[in-house]
Amino acid sequence: MNLTPAQLRFLADRAGALADEVRALCDGVAADAPERDPLAAALQAAAWFERGSEDLRRAAGDLDRLWAVRECGMPWGVCPEHGRTLSSTAGTSTCRVCGRTWDHDRLAKPCAEPVTWKVTDEAGTVTMMCDGHVLGARAVLRGATFTRLPAR
Ligand SMILES: [Zn+2]
Ligand SMILES: [Zn+2]
Repeated sequence: MNLTPAQLRFLADRAGALADEVRALCDGVAADAPERDPLAAALQAAAWFERGSEDLRRAAGDLDRLWAVRECGMPWGVCPEHGRTLSSTAGTSTCRVCGRTWDHDRLAKPCAEPVTWKVTDEAGTVTMMCDGHVLGARAVLRGATFTRLPAR
């Protein structure tokens, strides 16, 4: 997929320019000229172009937010490399695989790792996840689609 918010903004600009061009054409016609009535539909079209331009711009903004690097936010922490392999004792967490330790209880806090995957389950529900959480999800989600987000 070769889609970027910039492309949507480019199209939004073109739709906005079309609206301006239609209005400029119609404005050249005197208010009492007989052409005014047939041009009503053209002015309506200009309004639609303008509306389309706004919608395209909103889509670009939504895409920006979707792709922005953000925190995973799953309700428990994982080892970024190994997933659900943490044990917590006395306020520290340790990965049973790599032995990495954290000086806080990672299991008790929402995951703060960057989102790197989009996971779509069989029902079509989309969840954004970090590398570590995707490991666990792959093991339990049957029929889900895993899409790596573009690096940025
Ligand atoms: Zn680990
Ligand atoms: Zn996570």
